[in-house]
Amino acid sequence: MGKQKAAFHCELCRRTFFSGRGHVYGLKHQETLRNILDNFLEKVRDARKVLKEARVERYDFTEHDQNFWCYCCKTEVKKHVTNGNIAVVYGGFLEHFESSEHKKKTSAFWWENKANIKLKDQFSLSPEDYEKFKAAVTKALESYEEKEDEYIKEGAERIREVEQQRRELVQAALEVGLPRMNLKSIHDNCFFFTGGCYIVRDAVLWMRR
Ligand SMILES: [Zn+2]
Ligand SMILES: [Zn+2]
Repeated sequence: MGKQKAAFHCELCRRTFFSGRGHVYGLKHQETLRNILDNFLEKVRDARKVLKEARVERYDFTEHDQNFWCYCCKTEVKKHVTNGNIAVVYGGFLEHFESSEHKKKTSAFWWENKANIKLKDQFSLSPEDYEKFKAAVTKALESYEEKEDEYIKEGAERIREVEQQRRELVQAALEVGLPRMNLKSIHDNCFFFTGGCYIVRDAVLWMRR
């Protein structure tokens, strides 16, 4: 009896091959592998776009909780990094690509599947590139905070304006010297604290006629 080859289950082709591990050299396997890597590479290219121009955004659960499937590690990984308030777009992806765990598993994946060695570098991130990314994130965070401060300042300005208008209305009403009784009954219907004392103002206009 000849030496029997152990059956080999190929995770990429999702089939068991009785010809053994030699299957990975075959055309069918190489074609499946190429499709998977092409697909993966498109995602990698999207992620790499933020290397120089990092994106910091207000957190949105429909966008920033996504995962991606790492074929090399055979696991789901968080695509973005978030603290629940803000999100660093592709932060999770790039962090994973720089990790030594991912690099080790990528080497194993390349070896197991006899993948094209020339493509391998594109599927991980060098520490230098990751440092550049971190610097770009710091810059993006600063400009995000500046914009946010501006927004808060504008809001505060608006609140001050409304408050000032309210004070002026109250002052105008008091200057006219409405009788106490009338003022009270007027105020029963007045939304004093929600954006202005309109009924008093109308009364003032009426009194001034
Ligand atoms: Zn296969
Ligand atoms: Zn990985």
